[in-house]
Amino acid sequence: MTSKAPFLADNVSLNLLNTIVASRGQTVECIPDGESLLHWLVAGGVLTQVESDALKRRFGIAEIDLLASHTRRLRESFRVALEQRKVGDGDLVLDSLVQQLNLILSKDARYLAVELFNGTTHVCSRRVWENAEQVLSVLAENIALLFNRNDLGLIKKCANPSCVLWFEDKTRAHRRQYCSSRACGNRAKVAAFRLRKNVASPIDGS
Ligand SMILES: [Zn+2]
Repeated sequence: MTSKAPFLADNVSLNLLNTIVASRGQTVECIPDGESLLHWLVAGGVLTQVESDALKRRFGIAEIDLLASHTRRLRESFRVALEQRKVGDGDLVLDSLVQQLNLILSKDARYLAVELFNGTTHVCSRRVWENAEQVLSVLAENIALLFNRNDLGLIKKCANPSCVLWFEDKTRAHRRQYCSSRACGNRAKVAAFRLRKNVASPIDGS
């Protein structure tokens, strides 16, 4: 199964929000089941293909389907909390998300390890999955780190009102407005050009 979710957010947690996309006026769910979730996790660099295959083999697709359902629930709690936070409100909603995040993070199976590579040591983190649900901790960690910032000004929703995608503005000038310059950015340019043309020549209607 191929996920249609775009990876344009420059942020794992915002890429998770973007697993709901708008297409021809309809919203499309990109992680409706466990298979599509695993595909998305690998495509987004959250899991390796080897880890994904091992999870499916060890826990079975029913448990992975349940993980997908819990991921969607976490995603929507995150979306509501972020939208509220962006308008300077939402302490109650954020409190509910914090509880959800802490419950997930308390079950994380991460540990630090030292790797030797070409005579140099590297400290890295590893996880041993005792159940499929622990995969949520990777996503919860990214969501928690996003809210850990003092300023969410660079966390933006696409300026196209009909677009539902989010991104982190990592441009130097911090002027990124659209999820994609080729899609929404280009549409906005064309619309502005048509508007200018119509204003300039209102009689011929072209
Ligand atoms: Zn957009």
